Amino acid sequence: MEAATAAFRAEYRAGIGRGYNGWLHGLWILALGLGLGAWALSRGGGGLAVWLSLWTALLVSHFGEWWLHKNALHRRRAGLAMLWHRHTVQHHHYFTAAEMPIYAHRECRIVLFPPYAVLLLALIHAACAALWALPFGAAAGYGYFAGGLLHYLAYELFHFAAHLPDWPWLRRVPLINTVRRHHREHHRQEAMAHCNFNLTPPFADWCLGSCDRKQGLLATLFGGDPR
Ligand SMILES: [Zn+2]
Ligand SMILES: [Zn+2]
Repeated sequence: MEAATAAFRAEYRAGIGRGYNGWLHGLWILALGLGLGAWALSRGGGGLAVWLSLWTALLVSHFGEWWLHKNALHRRRAGLAMLWHRHTVQHHHYFTAAEMPIYAHRECRIVLFPPYAVLLLALIHAACAALWALPFGAAAGYGYFAGGLLHYLAYELFHFAAHLPDWPWLRRVPLINTVRRHHREHHRQEAMAHCNFNLTPPFADWCLGSCDRKQGLLATLFGGDPR
């Protein structure tokens, strides 16, 4: 590991509160996300409007992830500077393309969104779902809410997997292996502001021409992690 990266990591880890536990952090996000999502689906029932709305929310959130990563996490914007600092200054200094893994649960602090973010995102998705429900009905609104939360859980899961150690079995898990390669390339300092903004499978990157590799959609989504 480069000396500068090691020094930054040591300094960051020293600032993590004593009571912090990465397992609890992950469990909190998972429990709240799954719990609220399951509640919304049970309220909405299983009709077509619910599932169409869920997939709509997944797609909208997926493109939203791309936009936010490119335009707020890698550009300092008034009112959102905290996001830029946490991502560009901290996350991208903690992890470089040559040094991607975490080695201890306390390092989840630099990978996962802060614990309050799941509540904030639930509120944002609830507001979007309420608007969606105006023309399409309450069941569709519940489906939209569940889809938004599902996207957030997928975001955390894929990003977390991208920062796990280089265990051989991870290269055999479809989509996870693709995202690990895709995100590793994004962590090159010279590339981070220009390409590979998706953390979930890079459909938006492919549609918007910001993949580091120019190839077909199937190869982009299922290309894996060849080295
Ligand atoms: Zn990362
Ligand atoms: Zn980034």
